[in-house]
Amino acid sequence: MAEIILVVEDEPSLQETLVYNLKKQGYTVETAGDGRSALETARRLKPDLIVLDIMLPELDGFEVTKLLRREMIVPILMLTARDEEIDRVVGLEVGADDYLTKPFSMRELLARVKAQLRRAQLVRDEMGKERAEETVSSLETLAFGNLVINQSRREVLLDGKVLALKPQEYDLLLFFAQHKRQMLSREFLLERVWGWDYTGNSRTVDVHVRWLRQKIEAYPAAPVRIVTVRGGGYRFEG
Ligand code: CA
Repeated sequence: MAEIILVVEDEPSLQETLVYNLKKQGYTVETAGDGRSALETARRLKPDLIVLDIMLPELDGFEVTKLLRREMIVPILMLTARDEEIDRVVGLEVGADDYLTKPFSMRELLARVKAQLRRAQLVRDEMGKERAEETVSSLETLAFGNLVINQSRREVLLDGKVLALKPQEYDLLLFFAQHKRQMLSREFLLERVWGWDYTGNSRTVDVHVRWLRQKIEAYPAAPVRIVTVRGGGYRFEG
């Protein structure tokens, strides 16, 4: 099976050249032109390698790397254009596996791609595929588009930024996330998130849902993530 490579580059001509040359080598190639769609495509595609430009619209290559590192094991080959970027990449601050400075030759790029894929294969063989997958799932990350819940850190990120959530807001959101697309009544939520012995009433749930919406919805007044089910309760749509 052909290895899948995700090319993230916002300059159309360079993107085209990269795609052309990688495909010629027999790789399956997909593209993204900005940081946000790079994240989405990587999550959907689970590529074997990512060629990642640093200067990108939306989220830059550094942010993309930081987020992906928490979710998956994938070699990242960074494309840098400026000296200050190189300093950060070489300092291993960002966790790229390798980098190339623009302008670079296609021959050089293909050699680096091949080397990274081979290295990744060796790591997989060594660890055993099962263990590699275990390592990833032990990070316990739940992702819903630009909303990411990291259970081991009890952190919620929106567009790569950590949200300031109260403990009960976090617990409620996590419960929603674990019961995606299920109708959950206020009473059930109160019992499961706050506990049997909690003395509050179902208004408590409404208040926390309102706070959560203000933090995770693009338009809190017209929510699409946590929707109200008439006469019932709430449903998390992702
Ligand atoms: Ca660029």
